[in-house]
Amino acid sequence: MATGKLYDKHPYETEFTAVVEQVKKGEDPGCWEVVLDQTLFFPEEGGQSPDQGEIVIHDIAYEVVYVSISDEVITHTIRGENEPMPGQKALGRIDWGHRFSNMQNHTGEHIFSGIVHRAKGYDNVGFHLSDRMVTMDYNGVLTRGEIEEFTRQANRIIAEDLPVICEYPSEEALEAMEYRSKKEIEGAVRIVTIPGVDVCACCAPHVRSTAQVGLLMVVGDQSYKGGTRLSILCGLRAVADYQKKQGILSLTGRNLSTNWENIPETVDKLRSERDNLRYQLSSLSAELLEISARKLPEGENACLFTDCSDRNVLIRTLNGMKQEHPGIAVIFAAKDGVTEKEKVSFSYVAASLTGDSRRFSEQLKEKFGARGGGKPEMVQGSVAAKQEELAEYVQKFVINE
Ligand SMILES: [Zn+2]
Repeated sequence: MATGKLYDKHPYETEFTAVVEQVKKGEDPGCWEVVLDQTLFFPEEGGQSPDQGEIVIHDIAYEVVYVSISDEVITHTIRGENEPMPGQKALGRIDWGHRFSNMQNHTGEHIFSGIVHRAKGYDNVGFHLSDRMVTMDYNGVLTRGEIEEFTRQANRIIAEDLPVICEYPSEEALEAMEYRSKKEIEGAVRIVTIPGVDVCACCAPHVRSTAQVGLLMVVGDQSYKGGTRLSILCGLRAVADYQKKQGILSLTGRNLSTNWENIPETVDKLRSERDNLRYQLSSLSAELLEISARKLPEGENACLFTDCSDRNVLIRTLNGMKQEHPGIAVIFAAKDGVTEKEKVSFSYVAASLTGDSRRFSEQLKEKFGARGGGKPEMVQGSVAAKQEELAEYVQKFVINE
């Protein structure tokens, strides 16, 4: 039998009594799937997450972990030790903070989608309201300018304190009506009207007037399936988001010794300073590498460690080194700066004047798990190892055995 939907007529009530009709063991241990004769718990439906709260049966409080609807029967998945019995009385309490937040955000969707529908003719073809975010997928493109303008309009409508009316019109009245609908609906159609703003078929709880939405902000927009996906926040969720962003801006401003309005240009300035410094550092490491190469002690093999990542400089230096060191000449370039004790990720280049340098990369692979390869004249790759171990290894390496 269909469950009585108390939330439909009494969205502001938080407690109800009911009778247990059916009980099944839940999938998770300690969980029960319970059907009551009536409920205030809104089930997961139409892209909206279900109500939370508790149900007390025979003096035992059960946590409500999920609520679903199928063929008009609402099932509460509840967690608790004892198995409830059909016929027992139940007292349900919904988490009002959670519910009211959903009501604010859901009604906000009606306001915004009504504005978009009237101005652009687009529909919200994918609505999602979870405990953390609200998204709407419009089947047409909205520009940033339009989004900003519609946000201002939405907040003006909120301030106008318009009623939000939920009713079941007669079949004749419904036929004459133009309304948005998210899906094909069977049975009685519940119409939610905000006069002059939106008419939409919807089964969820809403706030009673637009003023109770409090505030509506669009916090994200992206292209989605040829249209636009928007994320919005309403009421206290929007306030919490504003406070968080305010905190981040203040902290960033303090760290940059500027007020928040100057953060973008201060960051631009710092980025260009950083780019200049990177360029200078790269030229200096190239010079240093070439000087170090000239100062290498005589010997069959030679290796250098560097921060320089300029490939042209590495190859030029390597070509110079191999003339002086006919065995193997190697340069290890640290990927994230050189540290002495721990393993470091290096890219490497190696060349030999007298032998097959692939022998070096193969042995490096065996000993250190390196990657890479190349031609007899030159190999390249990457390796993660301690610097001193690599240096010792190169020193002992024999190119032609
Ligand atoms: Zn609705």
